[in-house]
Amino acid sequence: MFATVTRSEGALLSTHTSIDADTVWELVVARAAQTPDFILITDENDRTLTCAQYRHAAERAAAGFYAEGVRPGDTVAWQLPTWIETIVLLGALARLGVRQVPVLPVYRDRELGFCLVQTGASLLCVPATWRGVDYAAMAARVAEALPGLEVRVCDRSLPDGDPATLPAPPAADTTRDVRWIYYTSGTTADPKGAQHTDHSSIAAGKAFCVRQHVRFADRFGMAFPFTHVGGLNNLLAGLREGMGLVCVEAFDPAMSAAVFTKNHVTLVGGAPAFYLSFIELQRKNPGVSVLPEVRFMSGGGAPMPPEMHLEVKREIGGLGIGHGWGMTESCITAINDPTDTDEHLMYTSGRAVLGMEIKAVLPDGSTAAAGVDGEMRVRGDSVMVGYLDPALNADAFDADGWFRTGDIGHLDVDGYVVITGRMKDIIIRKGENISAKEIEDLLYAHPKVIDAAVIGLPDRDRGEMVCAVVECRDGNDPLTEAELAQYCNDAQIMRQKIPERLEVVDTLPRNATGKILKHELRARYSARP
Ligand code: ADP
Repeated sequence: MFATVTRSEGALLSTHTSIDADTVWELVVARAAQTPDFILITDENDRTLTCAQYRHAAERAAAGFYAEGVRPGDTVAWQLPTWIETIVLLGALARLGVRQVPVLPVYRDRELGFCLVQTGASLLCVPATWRGVDYAAMAARVAEALPGLEVRVCDRSLPDGDPATLPAPPAADTTRDVRWIYYTSGTTADPKGAQHTDHSSIAAGKAFCVRQHVRFADRFGMAFPFTHVGGLNNLLAGLREGMGLVCVEAFDPAMSAAVFTKNHVTLVGGAPAFYLSFIELQRKNPGVSVLPEVRFMSGGGAPMPPEMHLEVKREIGGLGIGHGWGMTESCITAINDPTDTDEHLMYTSGRAVLGMEIKAVLPDGSTAAAGVDGEMRVRGDSVMVGYLDPALNADAFDADGWFRTGDIGHLDVDGYVVITGRMKDIIIRKGENISAKEIEDLLYAHPKVIDAAVIGLPDRDRGEMVCAVVECRDGNDPLTEAELAQYCNDAQIMRQKIPERLEVVDTLPRNATGKILKHELRARYSARP
């Protein structure tokens, strides 16, 4: 069940220590010095970079960018797949002390343009074409309206230069400067630019390592896009502990599992949509684990049906899922310790991570007691310094500096976080609040259902009606309204919560991190009675 540590890694284990650093670049340098030959990054084409090679490649690319005119303090956006070169580019720009704007590859003209205008980026790095999308053409279209923006096509290639020409790296006292602007994936409204610092990003990486017992020579299979804030956080975790990253340029369950297995992956990171893909893959391949050396899966970003933890533990193996609660604005905020009880792993998102505080707040502003739902607010090291658009900040933080997450939930008596919904994800039926998540969890457990989203649709009599949108295991034998009603009755939930409308879809619309796009479903079904 546990990964083999090679002989040279075994020798290093005795000398290895976790690295604390003020800046991202300092972390790169310290890791390269401590374990130069440890393989930091591997991709699906068996290309690798050791810690020393990573530092070297990043320095050369930094010098190349410098020669092309990029200066410390500039703003550079990059919309690139999860390639080794992308991770090198991040290191190169960190070496230069540039403000980085990683952009999800799924963004198109509208969202990309929005990010570029708002950040005032002077350079955008894109692939020529990737997976059928002409990124160079899109970048050119967007740049036409932005005279200050240059476009650089980085097709698995980066500029090259002599590191001796580089200016000094960022000083330790720049650790709280804004260096990262991550856009929320926009399941709600326009993307919002969350400003992070090296301090907040490094804190998130450390917190993940501490809570999830990351150790030297672990290998982390990165299922989600590197441009997500989790990409940076996991890279920093890898640099801190000497945890290798195994990357795939785009997620495909069978291919990713094969690459992860071949490279002795011990931890898999993602979100419920990724856990689900691996469970489905395992069911198609009974008998042999599709991820044989994985200790546990971890991730966050969306609600997880409780059964998923047991499904992973029982069917794939290992400890199951150490799920967490996090967001672009505050990175990993709470996450489970994978050695916690099944009860905690199934029903909670774990306790606040190192450096973070969490509380549930009642509508009158007081702190909710254990077990009582309120608006979840967070404070601490991994929270962004604010949105790039200052107009958003007045509402985003309360008077005491707590970030209002917009999520509803509570802390249990032991301080474990339970997210029960989202302020905008409550269905108000005849004045009664109904949590979509509760019904989704129930539907997920139905044998015919792969995944489900429950939404409120405008309704003249009820204000909103409860609509279930489900993806079924067998398209020829979908869930019927009668079966749904029977199932909900058997589960003895109150009648008002039983979905009044059922829509069966081939696939639920999801964003890049696999979160179901409920606003799309609402728009789709509100239009059609
Ligand atoms: P967006 O707000 O655009 O969806 P993010 O990708 O940053 O952006 O998503 C963060 C949100 O995802 C959280 O505010 C929360 O609603 C949801 N989320 C994250 N983790 C969990 C979890 N463990 N349980 C329930 N919801 C979660």
